[in-house]
Amino acid sequence: MNLILFGPPAAGKGTQAKRLVDKHGFVQLSTGDMLRAARAAGTELGREVAAIMDSGQLVSDQIVIRLIEDQLSTHRDVPGFIFDGFPRTIAQAEALDRLLKSHNQKIDGVIRLVVDDEELVARMTRRAAEEGRADDTVDAFRKRLGAYNSQTAELIPFYRARDLLHEVDGMKSIEKVSASIDAALSRLAA
Ligand code: AMP
Repeated sequence: MNLILFGPPAAGKGTQAKRLVDKHGFVQLSTGDMLRAARAAGTELGREVAAIMDSGQLVSDQIVIRLIEDQLSTHRDVPGFIFDGFPRTIAQAEALDRLLKSHNQKIDGVIRLVVDDEELVARMTRRAAEEGRADDTVDAFRKRLGAYNSQTAELIPFYRARDLLHEVDGMKSIEKVSASIDAALSRLAA
């Protein structure tokens, strides 16, 4: 089963993705983690995306699509993929459909974590203090939220029209959100 964990920055996608990996053996594909790893390793790609990431904007579709393409080819015969932070544009979503199709696969469900903006800013402020992430300054975070609203949120009607969207209240505790996701997965598997 291939799932997309969808939602604004700081909605809890990464936390819930890791839980699904532990519980179901899915492979988590987080383009944000891949880009941060490239930066930490000091690769050409890492240098190319650093300023864009720190400013809170989206890196080009071409870059993230290539990262996902490589990962899909690397991981064969896995129980499923959890896409976390990808796709973020309609072009990325269409590319993902094409890539999965070429591996005889598809997206089975999109779990949308619904969290209001005020709560997101509160979470981001806590996380920035804890992790010291350079892209988590308040200003950059507002830009990331802006990018989500202007470029990523249009994926909600895109996936709703395909009957793939499952909405989960992301304001609850981590455990309660996990339980709601599991309930959505059971419905999907039924
Ligand atoms: P994340 O950890 O998913 O919030 O990603 C951190 C940053 O990496 C984002 O603010 C973007 O600059 C970049 N990024 C991650 N995933 C994508 C994507 N699918 N499309 C464009 N940019 C991305």
